[in-house]
Amino acid sequence: MQCDFVAKAKTEEALMKKIAEHAKKAHNMQNIDEATLSKIKSAIKEV
Ligand SMILES: [Zn+2]
Repeated sequence: MQCDFVAKAKTEEALMKKIAEHAKKAHNMQNIDEATLSKIKSAIKEV
C-alpha cells in the first residue's frame, strides 16, 4: 500500500484508531487484516 499518511497519538491504541479511520476513508478498507496490521505496526515510530 502506497500511502504517506502520518498519524500522531500519545498511545498506540489512539494511533490505531486514527489509522483505522484513515484506512476506511482514504482506502475504503472496512477492516484491517492481519497482514496490513503488521505492516502498520512495523511502520510505527516511537517519538
Ligand atoms: Zn493512506
